[in-house]
Amino acid sequence: MPELPEVQSIINDLEKVLKGKIIQSVDCYYPGTVIADELLKANPFPARVWEIKRRGKYIIIKLEKDNALIIHLRMTGKLIYDNFCSEPIKYERARIILEEGKVLHFMDIRTFGKIVICGQKNIDNYLPPLGLEPFSDNFTAKALKEKLKGKKAPVKIVLMDQRIIAGLGNIYVCEILFRAGINPAKPAHKIHQKKIVEIIQQTREVLTEAINKGGTSISDYRRIDDKPGSFQNFLQVYKKQLCPLGHNILRLKQGGRSTFYCPICQK
Ligand SMILES: [Zn+2]
Repeated sequence: MPELPEVQSIINDLEKVLKGKIIQSVDCYYPGTVIADELLKANPFPARVWEIKRRGKYIIIKLEKDNALIIHLRMTGKLIYDNFCSEPIKYERARIILEEGKVLHFMDIRTFGKIVICGQKNIDNYLPPLGLEPFSDNFTAKALKEKLKGKKAPVKIVLMDQRIIAGLGNIYVCEILFRAGINPAKPAHKIHQKKIVEIIQQTREVLTEAINKGGTSISDYRRIDDKPGSFQNFLQVYKKQLCPLGHNILRLKQGGRSTFYCPICQK
């Protein structure tokens, strides 16, 4: 599933091809992929794109006339920028039709992805409760400590909870905990202040490096030119045999997901 760096990489790419451009229409080929808010008074298209933002793993495209598109890629969703073709292509569930013969295909094998069309004032109705944004000034040791307070679940599970930190998933939490030297099974409320500071710092570093590499392409994620990101080449523990110091990596099932960690480097 795309995590924060993949979503941000897509947004960085969309900035170049979508900002200031006119969306002619949004077509849907699979029932339920495109959801139009019932409060929308009229067809919002054509509409110019003012701004493209991210909240957690959501892409928010602000349009003129105070409307917006919210895109959630979920498991296998992809946005592919291409020249217009008349017939839907394989796994294309929806399509954002642009001016000048361009189109953004919304490809989604598993069909869990969604595109919502709504008024900007209703955006929050379509977002679940989301926690701290890793690149915001609110992501401080004090704020994170407050969030971890009383949480007896393993720190790995808690950091993946979108209500605690928005945008992290399995791959990046494995990497962050390795770099911070924290055992993923440790109860969240027992993490010391010094290590909380370390989590903040390593989260920002890992995510920044991953965004600079265009995200991690291990399964379905692709950039909008359908090319992979390259951060998969820089992972230190996720799906690795040995940590950078040569210790054996162990695999642990947590909340139905595989955690990768080094029992020697992570205490
Ligand atoms: Zn190690």
